[in-house]
Amino acid sequence: MTLHPPLPVADDISRPYWAGIQDRKLLVQRCSQCERLQFPPDAACQACSSEDIVFEEMSGRGKVFSFSETVSGARHPYFQSISPYLVGMIELDEQEGLIFPSNFPGSTYADLEIGAPVELEFQEVADGVLIPQFALSMPKAGR
Ligand SMILES: [Zn+2]
Repeated sequence: MTLHPPLPVADDISRPYWAGIQDRKLLVQRCSQCERLQFPPDAACQACSSEDIVFEEMSGRGKVFSFSETVSGARHPYFQSISPYLVGMIELDEQEGLIFPSNFPGSTYADLEIGAPVELEFQEVADGVLIPQFALSMPKAGR
């Protein structure tokens, strides 16, 4: 058996988001009333409670918001197998406070710094199952 991280389980609210990911598109909900973007998907706008929300494709560009390296304490066998690993959050360019998790594929801890530009890519975590990740757009020396 190949180890893999816990796989996404879509529900009625998140189904369009996960379908977009499988099509290599990052779809985020935008409120038609107040125009705010929100993630994760919800049944109503988290700012104004309107239920008039639609999914919209994002550019996939953002910046490192926070980062850390997990060196111990992973309980899931997959995460034990890849320890130490990077984990953190990125902020999409489309809106302040629009935050996504990432493992910064291809980077080391020393490569990361707050505000460094990142770009969306997709990681196949199991047969045909994609998740979004955000990788540094350029090496540290080029920033
Ligand atoms: Zn709203």
